[in-house]
Amino acid sequence: MIDAHCHISIPKFNNESNPLLNLIPDFKKELEFVIDSAASPIDAKISLDLTEKHKGFIFSTLGLHPVDALELNDKKIENYIEFIKENKDKIIGIGEVGLDYHYHKQDAEIKRSKEIFLQFIELAKEFNLPLVLHLRKAEEDGFKMVVDNDVKKVMFHFFSGKKDLAMEIVNEGYYISIPVIMLKSKTMKKVVKAIPLENLLTETDSPWASPFDEPFNKPTNIKYEIEKISELKNLDKEIVEKQITENAKKLFGMNF
Ligand SMILES: [Zn+2]
Repeated sequence: MIDAHCHISIPKFNNESNPLLNLIPDFKKELEFVIDSAASPIDAKISLDLTEKHKGFIFSTLGLHPVDALELNDKKIENYIEFIKENKDKIIGIGEVGLDYHYHKQDAEIKRSKEIFLQFIELAKEFNLPLVLHLRKAEEDGFKMVVDNDVKKVMFHFFSGKKDLAMEIVNEGYYISIPVIMLKSKTMKKVVKAIPLENLLTETDSPWASPFDEPFNKPTNIKYEIEKISELKNLDKEIVEKQITENAKKLFGMNF
């Protein structure tokens, strides 16, 4: 099994050092690989170090969370994009990037975040890398932007949109990543049931979003999601696990 989206690279969680770092040996026992998605320039450096130290187990995508993005001026964003370009051979995707209408409600904020998002869309296209999308309460707008810009490889991270939009996403050949917190979400369970297994990915968004009463979420919680998906789709766990791992390898061009 795999975790297609987590944050082992964040420097701090709840003001303490990231608790996931010490648990990497445990993750290796249960998971085939994990994808760490850097959400800021600080995370990005840590993420690259992690992929170097845990080659073949931790893979990295570099991006800029839309909320962090609005803190940065043009020059800082330009420098960060330059950093990503310099390290393009060490990463498997661009993200997480996108739009966040939970935090951004004003027109000026939305306009600015769309401009920044577009720069990352162009970066992904330039290097033919898949895009990892964060679209909070902005699924429709984000979907439109990737379709209009003719982006071919896309993962909708933490998808919490409705079934109908999920089907449109699938029809474009994109991937929908459902977080382990689906255990507590009726809408997410409906989406899992409706979409083909070939378009589905599993993720935790760890250390955030645990479905359990615990201080932080861990990539090893993926096993509970696999169980639930098998139940919802009436398929063997092994089949679900194998297909989802294949999906991630295919989207991110991992040849092993
Ligand atoms: Zn995330």
